[in-house]
Amino acid sequence: MTKSVQSCGVYARISSDEGTALGVARQIEDCTAEASRRGWPLGEVFTDNDVSATRTKKRPAYERMLHAIEHRTIDAVVVWDVDRLTRTPAELERFIGLADSHGLALASVGGEVDLATPQGRLTARIKGSVARHEVEQMSRRLKRKFQENAKAGKSHGVMPFGYRREPILDENGRQIGTCDAIVEAEAEAIRELYARAIAGDTLRYLAKYLNESGFKTGQGNAFIGNVVGNMLRKPRYAGHRTHAGQIIGKGDWEPIISQDTYDQAMAVLTAPGRRHSGGMEPKHLLSGIALCGRCGGTLRPNMYKLLPDGTYLRSNYACKDCMRLTRQMAPVDEVVNAVMVARLSRPDTVLDLSEKPEALASAISSRAAILARMDTAADDYADGTITARQMARVNERLKISLAEAEGQVLRFQPVRILDGMTGAGAAAAWESATINRKREIIRQLATITILPSGPGIRFSPEQVKIEWKVSA
Ligand SMILES: [Zn+2]
Repeated sequence: MTKSVQSCGVYARISSDEGTALGVARQIEDCTAEASRRGWPLGEVFTDNDVSATRTKKRPAYERMLHAIEHRTIDAVVVWDVDRLTRTPAELERFIGLADSHGLALASVGGEVDLATPQGRLTARIKGSVARHEVEQMSRRLKRKFQENAKAGKSHGVMPFGYRREPILDENGRQIGTCDAIVEAEAEAIRELYARAIAGDTLRYLAKYLNESGFKTGQGNAFIGNVVGNMLRKPRYAGHRTHAGQIIGKGDWEPIISQDTYDQAMAVLTAPGRRHSGGMEPKHLLSGIALCGRCGGTLRPNMYKLLPDGTYLRSNYACKDCMRLTRQMAPVDEVVNAVMVARLSRPDTVLDLSEKPEALASAISSRAAILARMDTAADDYADGTITARQMARVNERLKISLAEAEGQVLRFQPVRILDGMTGAGAAAAWESATINRKREIIRQLATITILPSGPGIRFSPEQVKIEWKVSA
C-alpha cells in the first residue's frame, strides 16, 4: 500500500455452488473488521445474491461497485476472498484493468491482494481460475448425476402424453423416487395412432383424430400434425431411454407399443414421397399420382366453377407440364376404384411387397449389437474405466454404424398398409378407407397413366392404364 485509502467498499456475494456456503452477513462482518484493522474508512457495502454461479447472471451490486470505482467514490475494496469478487477470468482481467487505471487497493480477509504487482495478480488469477474450476466441477457433477439417472433407466424431463409420474414410497410412506405409470386412455389413443400411421394416415389426420377424441397436449392445446409426428418418433413409447437424442438403453417404464410397431411406423413416417402431406390434405384420389400419357408429367386437379352445394361444375385431372391432357375426374376415379377392389379381392393374391424377413432380422440384430456396445461404453465411463473423451470417441464411431443399421431396419420393414384390405371384405374395406390410405395403397401397388384420346373420342376405361408394381 503506497497511499492512504479515503473510502473503501466491501463486496459480498452469496452463492450456493459450494458446500460451505458462506453467509453474506458473515462476509460483511469479516470484511468490515478487516477494513477497520487497516484503518480504511468504510464507504459502501455491495451485496449480490448470486445463487447460480454462471456467466450470464447479472450482478447488479457488482456493476454498481465498478461504477463507484470509475467515479472514484471508493478507492479500495475489501472482499472475503478473491473468488467472491470475480467468477470468470474475463471478469478478473476487467477488474485488474480498472484497479490499474484508478490505483485501487484491494484486500481480502486474511491477506492483501496487491493487483499492482505481478505476484499479486498471479495470486488473484490462480484464485479466480480455482473458482472457475469449481463452477465447472459443479456442472460436471450435475451432468454426472443426470448420466447416472439415464443409466439407471430413470425417467426425467417433461412427462409425455400417455404417462403420468407417480411417487415411489418406502414402507414408512416416505418418497424415495418416482416412476412413470401408463394412463390407459391415452395409451389406447397412442396405439391407435401408430396403427393409423402404419396404415398410411397423414399426421394432420392423426391430429384431427386426437382432437376429436377430446385429448389435449401437455400445454392444454389442440394437437397439430407436427406435434403428433414428433410424439410418434419418441423411442420412449417402445420402452427406450434416450440421452441427447440417442437411444442409450431400456427405460424403467412400461412400453406402450412394441419395437416392431415402432419400426414399422418409422418406416412409413420417413418414407420418401411422404413429405408433401404436411401441407394441404389431398382431396382427390389420383392428384400427384396419375401420370400424363403424353409427357409423363404428374396430373393435378383442375376445378371449374364452385357451385352453391360445395361441388364443382367440372373437376378434371390435368397435366400442367405439357398442357395437352385433361380428363374428367369422376370416371377415372371410378375405374381405378373398381380395379383396385378387384385386385385386392382376388383370393390368390400374394401381395408380397418386397418383404425381406432375413434382411430385416439381420439389420435388427446388428442394431442391437451396436446399442449393446454403446451401453458397455457408458458402463465403462460410469465405472471410471474410460474417460468421457474416450466414451465420446467410441460413440462417435458407433453412431455412424447405428445410423446405417437403423436405415436397414426401416428399409426392410414388412408393408402393413394392406392389413385388413384384401380378400372377401376388400370392397367394403376400400369403401370405408380414408382417401389417404387409398392413395397410399395405389401408390404402393400400381403406376397409373392416363392415355391421350383421339379427337372426338369420349372417355373409355382403356384410357386408364394400370400397371402393377407387384407381381401376383
Ligand atoms: Zn403432359
